[in-house]
Amino acid sequence: MKTIQHWINGSPTGATGPEPAPVFNPATGTEQARVLLGDASTVDIAVTAAARAFEAWSESSLTQRTQVMFTFRQLLVDHEEELGRIISAEHGKTVDDARGEIVRGREVVEYACGLGDVLKGSFSDQVSRGIDLHNFRQPLGVVAGVTPFNFPAMVPLWMHPIAIATGNTFILKPSERDPSAANLVADLYQKAGLPDGVFNVVHGGKTAVDAILAHPGIEAVSFVGSTPIAKYVHEQATATGKRVQALGGAKNHAVVLPDADLKFAATHITAGAYGSAGERCMAVSVAVAVGEAADGLVQVLERKAREVKVGPGDAPGTEMGPLVTKAAQERVENAVAVARTQGATVIVDGRGLKIDGHENGFFTGPSLLDHVTTEMDAYQEKLFGPVLAIVRVDTLDQAIDLINANPYGNGTALFTASGEAARRFQRNVKVGMTGINVPVPVPMSYYSFGGWKDSLIGDSPIHGPEGIRFYTRPKVVTTRWPQPKQQVTVGFTFPTSS
Ligand code: NAD
Repeated sequence: MKTIQHWINGSPTGATGPEPAPVFNPATGTEQARVLLGDASTVDIAVTAAARAFEAWSESSLTQRTQVMFTFRQLLVDHEEELGRIISAEHGKTVDDARGEIVRGREVVEYACGLGDVLKGSFSDQVSRGIDLHNFRQPLGVVAGVTPFNFPAMVPLWMHPIAIATGNTFILKPSERDPSAANLVADLYQKAGLPDGVFNVVHGGKTAVDAILAHPGIEAVSFVGSTPIAKYVHEQATATGKRVQALGGAKNHAVVLPDADLKFAATHITAGAYGSAGERCMAVSVAVAVGEAADGLVQVLERKAREVKVGPGDAPGTEMGPLVTKAAQERVENAVAVARTQGATVIVDGRGLKIDGHENGFFTGPSLLDHVTTEMDAYQEKLFGPVLAIVRVDTLDQAIDLINANPYGNGTALFTASGEAARRFQRNVKVGMTGINVPVPVPMSYYSFGGWKDSLIGDSPIHGPEGIRFYTRPKVVTTRWPQPKQQVTVGFTFPTSS
């Protein structure tokens, strides 16, 4: 049985820690590897290596850093297929879907390649007589990222390229469910010429995360995962004086107005709901059908849900793979059963799906629930699976109120032909990322990514300009070069400019 090791100071490391954890192949349901679980001493070894590497890396030139990012970007292109297959084998998503997340993550590396431009400071001449002022940004030191299972490449790529390009050194604690992508990325960074110790991987669960949150040598923590853990990470890490960005869970609504092209809307909502088996933070989990849009929408959604091709992620033609764990499969199937007992109409029932040759895989088919109300568990709970709930309302304003009453505010979408409705929606909805006729509105890397309310704890979105701000401290310098033997008159009042 393969053992997945930590990656510290440029090489695979055994270090200490509790018993390794099993890593499953969700398509077969079998254990395929074991991953080491780091503890406080593993984290300390990584921090020591990263702190030593910071001394030189923070002094490296912008040119050197940019060259590493350029080379790293090309290596991500060259290894896209290999990385996609690694992700698919541990997560369950299709290889093509995994390649999609690599491409979206790579865009952050492309943004980081332009660090010479984004790190430019500004200069003010003659702010007072003979005095100039300029500012620039400096790295924090050793920073850490704690990431979820659902995007084992992309979510860490939201963090480390920016942290490293701005001169920090990084410790990644990836999800213990699909840990291998992180080690290949570490190897690619090394091949790109990144000095040892700048990028490190500590595998593990709560014990490793707690050690990161408590370690005095770590300046900042980036977290993406479920809301309860995001709140916990934010609380613990800020208590030890660290900067924190903490992105939480989601329950995303797509609103369909009667003037929308229903086939277009239903096709996109189907992809947004069942792509990656609904295990995306931007997955559509609720379709809000307004007025007479409902019956026509449900008809097309039903047809589309029945057409989704479910199978192993590496089989050609598969559109939706298994869920990540048996527990997730059981949770989702139980939620469909409860929805029926609470009065929802189960239009498509994905439970009990068996895939030939993969009978023990963690599969469930797409489920479509109609007449869901906001009191039902199917609406209130975060199912994180291929279940689309349809809620019917009478007006756009009711749809907006419903979304605004939901505790999450990650993504949302409106399908309409009306510019006025679109404008009203995007201005009034309390959600961080909004799509107009776009179901999964993930911003490009040169914008920042982040939700509102329980989808983002604290105040810092991730990557783009917010990422640069997060991983650097501003410094302002006020300069005077007096003329030789210039006469000096200084008062004791607080200095003001003249
Ligand atoms: P999770 O919260 O269970 O785990 C995330 C990370 O936290 C993992 O590295 C895990 O090892 C660690 N962790 C788990 N329990 C912990 C504990 N008690 N103490 C300290 N650390 C702990 O999330 P997940 O199941 O891996 O990922 C799915 C969740 O992530 C979903 O809720 C999804 O919506 C969310 N997510 C959000 C975004 C976003 O941008 N807002 C993006 C991707 C995923």
